[in-house]
Amino acid sequence: MTKTPIAIYDTTLRDGLQGSGMSLSVEDKVQTARKLDELRFDYIEGGWPGSNPKDIEFFQKIQHVPLSYARVAAFGSTRKKETPAESDANLRLLIEANTPVVTIFGKSSPFQVAEALQTTPEENLRMISDSVKFLGQHGKEVIYDAEHFFDGFQQDRDYAICTLRSAHAAGARYLVLCDTNGGTDFPVLAEIVRDVGQQFPGAKLGIHAHNDMGYGVANSMAAVYEGVQMVQGTINGIGERVGNANLVTITANLFKNEFPTKGNIDVAQLKNLSGLVYELANLPPDIRQPYVGDAAFAHKGGVHVDAVLKNPRLYEHIDPEAVGNRRHFLISDLAGTAHVQALEGLGIKKKDALAREIVEKIKKLEHEGYVFEAAEGSLELLVRAARGEDTSIFDLIEYRTDVTRKSDTRKSEGGLESCAIVRIRVNGEEVTQMAYGDGPVNALDLALRAALTSKYPELAELRLDDYKVRIIPEQRGTAAKVRVLIESKLGGRRFGTVGVDENIVEASWRALVESFNYAHLLIRSSNSRA
Ligand SMILES: [Zn+2]
Repeated sequence: MTKTPIAIYDTTLRDGLQGSGMSLSVEDKVQTARKLDELRFDYIEGGWPGSNPKDIEFFQKIQHVPLSYARVAAFGSTRKKETPAESDANLRLLIEANTPVVTIFGKSSPFQVAEALQTTPEENLRMISDSVKFLGQHGKEVIYDAEHFFDGFQQDRDYAICTLRSAHAAGARYLVLCDTNGGTDFPVLAEIVRDVGQQFPGAKLGIHAHNDMGYGVANSMAAVYEGVQMVQGTINGIGERVGNANLVTITANLFKNEFPTKGNIDVAQLKNLSGLVYELANLPPDIRQPYVGDAAFAHKGGVHVDAVLKNPRLYEHIDPEAVGNRRHFLISDLAGTAHVQALEGLGIKKKDALAREIVEKIKKLEHEGYVFEAAEGSLELLVRAARGEDTSIFDLIEYRTDVTRKSDTRKSEGGLESCAIVRIRVNGEEVTQMAYGDGPVNALDLALRAALTSKYPELAELRLDDYKVRIIPEQRGTAAKVRVLIESKLGGRRFGTVGVDENIVEASWRALVESFNYAHLLIRSSNSRA
């Protein structure tokens, strides 16, 4: 078969965030978008401006972020019934989102139209056509998501085709067939995609699958084999109910089966991308996730290890390094590729003896519970320390935190009080500062900040932007630990630092200290460039 390049459309930041327990700050969303752009995803759906003010904020921010390849899409519905497109509030918000691409969804069967929209099948067709036209007139590339398409098609094939015809004739660039409930079996899905393809020989079709039958990836791949030119999904398959089709697995599958992606996606960074999204979403990674899970290339049994050492292909379906993963053996751990790649970014070659030393150090820290995917500040400090560089700007003499709860007052009336004292040595001089804060970590941050800015006034610019805590369950003979990830902002630059300890205050302290040290390093290097 001829293999047309496939556009990859990511909806992690919209459909993905509808999953239970999922939330990302606007800054986290921007960071995810940057990463997707770096890997050359074609489309990044940023949110639904009509449903969520936080999404509007994202669209304002992302306009000022220079993306090298990806196109940002805003998502919304067709116009309301019996409302002209130009006076439809939702369409207006989509235009105001100021993205090059707008994706709108519409209904696919008379049943859905009657039940959900309470209007006529004819009006639904006009709603689709008017909305696509209107957005096109405003210079948007329009993608049409046919919601519940496979269910609609099975209820009334001809009408389902008519809805697509309306979108197509009005100028939609892609017609995306959605298995919104995730309940379509793959032979049925493939047959419907084939039928639609015959009805629209010149059109570009897409697939948007959910994983309710465990077929998210399988259904997407089935549609690819039927010739669709766009796949929609989310990183790590996060999303409503059991989730969306997993784009990490899909892009790896496309690579493996030699289906070109339009942007020629950098699959060697897939593990890195997957880890970033887990970390930002504060979710534990699935070690058994295809391609990128820590167990995906782990060989334990003696026979397997023996065989893999002779020839990895005996027990591996693909080279782990191709997707940024690494082979694990119970007896010895030989690689460390993902980190070696990160080190190359810091000017350390894979062959350097130092690289090996650093990778060993990272592995040891990871075993203790550290994760560096979202903590590039800590990673760089570690590399510099290995090079013999001293990056710390002060020495701790002591810190102390204190939380007081008074029973006769309410929390809001100051009944809960957090205070911290920090005593440090900076440039040979001893400085002591005390601060009150919202909680002991905030008090520590304020006290340390006060102590440091007396000597380094430029650090006043540093902002603590986000703070995440994860409990690391106890493993063999160790007590449970906490990992604290701090995201800091310095001017326009954001970076993460990480700290791990059995005590949450100490873990936070470590991440805080690294944040200040790293900020100082950034200021110093930008001054020396200027
Ligand atoms: Zn969906």
